[in-house]
Amino acid sequence: MRPLEEARAEVLEAVSPLGSETVPLAEAEGRILAEDVIAPGDVPPFPNSAMDGFAVIAADVRSVPVRLRVIEDVPAGSVATRTVTPGTAIKIMTGAPMPPGADAVVKVEVTRQPDPDTVEILESVEPGAAVRPAGGDIAAGSVVLEAGRALGPVELGLLATAGVGRPKVGRRPRVALMATGDELRPAEVAELEPGQIRDSNRPLLRGLIHEAGGEVVDLGIVADDETALTAALSRAATEADAIVTSGGVSMGEYDLIKRVLSARGTVDFWQVAMQPAKPFAFGHIESVPLFGLPGNPVSVMVAFEQFARPALLKMQGARRLFRPRVVVPMGETIDTDPRKVVFVRVALHRDGNRLVARSSGGQSSNVLSALGAADGLAVVPVGTGRVEAGEAVEVELFRHPSAEFGR
Ligand code: AMP
Ligand code: MG
Repeated sequence: MRPLEEARAEVLEAVSPLGSETVPLAEAEGRILAEDVIAPGDVPPFPNSAMDGFAVIAADVRSVPVRLRVIEDVPAGSVATRTVTPGTAIKIMTGAPMPPGADAVVKVEVTRQPDPDTVEILESVEPGAAVRPAGGDIAAGSVVLEAGRALGPVELGLLATAGVGRPKVGRRPRVALMATGDELRPAEVAELEPGQIRDSNRPLLRGLIHEAGGEVVDLGIVADDETALTAALSRAATEADAIVTSGGVSMGEYDLIKRVLSARGTVDFWQVAMQPAKPFAFGHIESVPLFGLPGNPVSVMVAFEQFARPALLKMQGARRLFRPRVVVPMGETIDTDPRKVVFVRVALHRDGNRLVARSSGGQSSNVLSALGAADGLAVVPVGTGRVEAGEAVEVELFRHPSAEFGR
């Protein structure tokens, strides 16, 4: 058996970034930034008021109460035409540029206006009070976001504020997807014949590929038949940047798929020291990387997560290839095979002020329902075997553990 780390390193070594393209910001969600974004100007671009109130000279309002003459009114989006001089103030709204001459803003709550031309200041302020300096958020020339960052909602907001309307992002890999197996029927088919099951791997993988930034070229269900497999792989190699297959790599079925794959490219069949998802095939069909995932649904997810997901992210130029992990105590004692890295489906539960991980159900590789109840996979390293209740485990999260918080 090959150590997981070694197998994964070999996979990642064999894939490279696909190149980049420029997209409108409105279409950039989920993409990976291809270059460092440097702020072309200051954000905010000019000093402005943090409050609704009155722009004043701080020295003017040292002893309060004091009355000042209101010489202008500046809403956000406008610029003052007058200069604040001793004895005067300009009414200003949040975000409006600081008028020349003023060095502080007194918030409206500590003022009174007996008439529109007069303001009574009730509290003194320091110079700079309630003024947001130019570049106080992002200074011109600084790095707003580094190459390799995934663009989520916050990053999109940052790019917009920095004036980047068309970010350069990594190209999305086109991923050819097929499920192999004579027993498989699509979910849409109402009745199953004896011996048939529904193809759950393709919908699962479609979601995982999308989530990893890929575009799916769905080649459907492919029969366990040399001609059908050969045709599907040829199409995959011409239309896609990566190929993901499910099924046919376990010992019993190995021969057919091995023969077909070997005839069209260089594919290795590995026994990886992990559970689930021990059998895994990786290689190239006409220079297109192929991920041959096992057939059992949980194995499919685990193998995709450990091999294909980081590879697809690398192809897009991502910096962070792996899911976030949290370290939490195991809520119960579990026994695992010490020869393998064992991925235990767990849900995180609230226990007072901390979270604990508990098994989310059956741990056999065909039990998809336990994945449905899981927040992540506890990663039990080789050589561990038993994890006692209370012992810390690393959990790779594939979902926010929100159920426990009533959200
Ligand atoms: P295989 O690796 O092809 O021997 O498949 C292992 C197990 O996974 C068998 O029980 C298959 O019926 C099941 N299986 C294979 N492909 C799928 C699929 N697409 N959806 C659900 N189960 C599958
Ligand atoms: Mg099969």
